Amino acid sequence: MTMPDACDLDSRATHIETERIAHQCPLCLTLAAAVGQATYYDANERFATPVFYCKRCNLYGRIVTAAQIKSHIPATSYVQPQSESKWLRSRAGFFEYILKVVDQYSAKSDRQRSLVDFGSAYGHLIDIAIRQGFKSTGVEASRELVEITRARGLNVVESVDDLPHDIDVFTIIDSLYLIQDPVTLMSKIRMRLNNGGIAVIRITNRNWIAGIKRLGSSNPDLSVLGDTIYSYSLYSLQELLKQAGMKVVRVIPDGGAGKKTVWQKSLGYKMFSLISHLSCHTLLLSPGLIVVATSNEMRPSERTK
Ligand SMILES: [Zn+2]
Repeated sequence: MTMPDACDLDSRATHIETERIAHQCPLCLTLAAAVGQATYYDANERFATPVFYCKRCNLYGRIVTAAQIKSHIPATSYVQPQSESKWLRSRAGFFEYILKVVDQYSAKSDRQRSLVDFGSAYGHLIDIAIRQGFKSTGVEASRELVEITRARGLNVVESVDDLPHDIDVFTIIDSLYLIQDPVTLMSKIRMRLNNGGIAVIRITNRNWIAGIKRLGSSNPDLSVLGDTIYSYSLYSLQELLKQAGMKVVRVIPDGGAGKKTVWQKSLGYKMFSLISHLSCHTLLLSPGLIVVATSNEMRPSERTK
């Protein structure tokens, strides 16, 4: 599952009053007030939904019903079979880069490591991992994509509950933002990690842009957050990992490595990534963050890097 660019969404959101609307933050469980709205869509229409902000966790969330989420997912480009070649062209190099990050931080160096890609979509990442010698499995919620990828001989399950408890590597690339109960999910992932196992998580990094849009506006359009259910900052991701019994090993500003995109976007990736590096991560402005995490229970001597 991959978050589309905010510019893919048009801005015909109907104005809605967000006053007095609040929602429970999934991390600290306090009620957080709506601070704006953002465009959402299904196969038939586009509409506005309120967006809340938890200041304590630096987390944005969409106030949306389970039924709206259910009808939204089939309408997204990242589950359409006809969009597959586009996604492969633009992301194959990035998935190879992700596997280099895995090589760098994984405690094991042999190529028989088990790797699970959560939100495996068309199976591109697990396919590349298999060719590199990993024993790979995908987790995908779209029944249609599960059937398509299984027909190609890939091992894909519909839930983390279907996985064994001996996984060396989880990759969670642009899919965490769609999860309604992230603490439960990450706890299940942690319980399935081998000692020395890692999770490589890629999130978008747009909360700071939403913060700018809120300046001077009581009900701003926050569609920059894409079709997110929860939009994480590094801080809120760290909080989520902490509650799931995990810890951050490394934060890598996403500089667009391996991505095929228009030069303006590519330049933006490099520029914001450079600012992040030069500021020693005090100004994390890169469009995305790649976070390597592991279980709290792992003994430091077992971590090789
Ligand atoms: Zn919170």
